[in-house]
Amino acid sequence: MTDHLARPLRKVDSEVAQAINNETLRLASGLEMIASENYVSEAVLEAMGSVFTNKYAEGYPGRRYYGGCEFADVVERLAQERAKNIFGCDHVNVQPHSGAQANMGVFLATLKPGDTILGMDLSHGGHLTHGHPLNFSGKYFNVVSYGVHPDTETIDYEALEALAHQHKPKMIICGASAYPRQIDFERIGKIATDVGAFSLADIAHIAGLVAVDLHPSPIPHVDFVTSTTHKTLRGPRAGIAMCKEQFAKDLDRAVFPGVQGGPLVHIIAAKAVCFYEALQPDFKTYQSQVVKNAAELAKSLKEHGFRLVSGGTDNHLMLVDVSAKGTTGKVAEKALEKAAITVNKNTIPFDKNPPLVASGVRIGTPALTTRGMTETEMQIIGGWIAEVLSAPEDEALHKRIRQEVELLCHRFPLYATRLSQYEKAQTI
Ligand SMILES: *Cc1c(COP(=O)(O)O)cnc(C)c1O
Repeated sequence: MTDHLARPLRKVDSEVAQAINNETLRLASGLEMIASENYVSEAVLEAMGSVFTNKYAEGYPGRRYYGGCEFADVVERLAQERAKNIFGCDHVNVQPHSGAQANMGVFLATLKPGDTILGMDLSHGGHLTHGHPLNFSGKYFNVVSYGVHPDTETIDYEALEALAHQHKPKMIICGASAYPRQIDFERIGKIATDVGAFSLADIAHIAGLVAVDLHPSPIPHVDFVTSTTHKTLRGPRAGIAMCKEQFAKDLDRAVFPGVQGGPLVHIIAAKAVCFYEALQPDFKTYQSQVVKNAAELAKSLKEHGFRLVSGGTDNHLMLVDVSAKGTTGKVAEKALEKAAITVNKNTIPFDKNPPLVASGVRIGTPALTTRGMTETEMQIIGGWIAEVLSAPEDEALHKRIRQEVELLCHRFPLYATRLSQYEKAQTI
């Protein structure tokens, strides 16, 4: 009767199975350098693909609106305890489905429509949810933006402070998606206190670095901290929101029932696994290598004559100003893609090109570091990037580099057991 439940995907839906297999091959045979991406472990994948996807668990551990939640409670409590251990926060909500929903939860917990928020400009490295006009944050709130100083291309804290005093925002948001330098959370937290604003640090990108003290933690300095769990933290695609004890109830009520219904229990289980992994000693080794690899790649690109926004990097990513080489982000992204090097075009501060063209590319090292690559490979890859971008129309060159990339990738296998399953499946 229930035989249909046991059939493997390739028998049930060969089109989706094929796309998944092709994606596995694509990941294994190319260089993933999108700064917000990473490769999760088989353990995280297993938890994500678990039977917890079946479960409704509205509410919180011990206070659910559904029966049968005893094991859902186990994984949610594990995720909470481990997140608190990693970040040293008073309170954490592990239910947000994504980074954007974690931010939405914090806004709903603290703000009313029409309130003023002060956030970092998207074109200077901020995020859509920090006040972009097309995002809920830009539609429901009065947005004032800060950015970087034109000379240093690092956050202009003095201008930020002046804007805070001038506009008296209800919330100051810091954290970024394309900012290669350390962020002074202490200073921003203090500015927020001075003007009576709530403060939110969105550490979506740098959470893995914060987890092991490679970037100063915002926890003691701000009211709320949000993050994704799938970038440097290397867990499932999802979010978390943390806060001081005094805001715990408001935050929980805002996440559920405020912006979400039932939590994704299978994803919460995978978050618990991710947090377990982040508490192991080798996670610190991994994150230090991410930073070393970014520094080495930045050095290599500079040696090849590239201009990096702010002159370099302190973290896992860099922004390369390709306009200085006479090309655009759009062209550079496409050319690198042909050579199996995946990056994304990105505006640079004070960009003269529109976002869909952009003058920069954003490059990160978290995924390649997960594969085991170190400084030696960063030097080689820096050379390839320079070659491709020196001739963005030269398809023969792109093809040659793609072959070299594939050879390198073979030395750093990824999801090998999944690929061998695939090859077996194909020959059936
Ligand atoms: C990636 C990112 C987010 C959003 O995460 P999603 O899971 O894609 O919603 C939020 N804030 C910052 C700073 C980010 O970099």
